[in-house]
Amino acid sequence: MPELPEVETIVRDIRPALFGRTFRHVSLSHDDVLRGVSRRTLLAQLTGATVHDVFRRAKHAVLDLGARRLVVQPGMTGSLIVYRRSLSDDERKYAVLRIELDNGTELVYRDVRRLGTLLLLDERGWAAYDRAIGPEPLADDFTAEQLGTALRSSRQAVKKVLMDQRHLAGVGNIYANEALFAAGIDPSKPAARLSADDHRRLHREIRRILSAAVASQGTTFRDYRTGTGQPGNFQLELFVYGREGEPCRRCGTRLAGTHAIDARITVFCHRCQS
Ligand SMILES: [Zn+2]
Repeated sequence: MPELPEVETIVRDIRPALFGRTFRHVSLSHDDVLRGVSRRTLLAQLTGATVHDVFRRAKHAVLDLGARRLVVQPGMTGSLIVYRRSLSDDERKYAVLRIELDNGTELVYRDVRRLGTLLLLDERGWAAYDRAIGPEPLADDFTAEQLGTALRSSRQAVKKVLMDQRHLAGVGNIYANEALFAAGIDPSKPAARLSADDHRRLHREIRRILSAAVASQGTTFRDYRTGTGQPGNFQLELFVYGREGEPCRRCGTRLAGTHAIDARITVFCHRCQS
């Protein structure tokens, strides 16, 4: 699933093309991506709406339409693309949501496997959604103390807490693995056992790695594409994710992999992380 850097990249790519534009015609190929909104309501509310802003919250792209917000949570194969030309047959086939804009361009939510979701929230719905998600790690006011508070209150493994969106927004498996390696912390260590110094290191590394990944337009392993349809580049800069069995880039030890912490693959170095 795209994480913070991938969704941030998509949002930055599509924002200039959407800002101030009005939705002229809207169509939806399948209802199974909708959550808490019917097809009829979605189409009625989107048609004629104007884009006030486009931004990211956690791993989701948000289109601010004034009274409503359209929240797009891209699944494994989901992407948002603005087309300045007609769609090809292949592009049409996987275009789940198609929005024709008032300048003739088209915003498409493409999702081959339709694992993503679309929400349409009013002001109250947005407030509840926003409240349920933890702080943004790249926000200026996000501190090591805030991270420490979240970690101290949990009995879970530190990796699980980092990936829990209620504690921290936007970090998923790739960047949790990378941040824990960079901070020298064993991913299975109980979060509550981390020291204040661990909190500071982890805070610094999370921010550094997420910023670097945004600068490299995200990580493409398979499906992720930027808002212009290009692959990202951060896969070239990964130290542990996707490198199980390969030598540690810092000490040469063979990297270990486990599924014991959560259902996802965790890759780490026995020697560099404790
Ligand atoms: Zn190592």
